[in-house]
Amino acid sequence: MDKDDTAVRCIGCSRPVGQVPLIPVLHRDGLGHICPQCLPGLIHDPQSLVGRLPGAEKLDPHKH
Ligand SMILES: [Zn+2]
Repeated sequence: MDKDDTAVRCIGCSRPVGQVPLIPVLHRDGLGHICPQCLPGLIHDPQSLVGRLPGAEKLDPHKH
């Protein structure tokens, strides 16, 4: 079995922790992980993660 099959993955790009560092994100269904590359997307365009990050639909994009 490929060890990546059970690896923790980024909720944005699905890359496993073996390829990229991941930041834990606590959400209503438990714990998810996101990589530094996808983190700005979570801040600026959270709607893009609706369906992958529980609660993302409640987030407003960061306003400059
Ligand atoms: Zn990512």
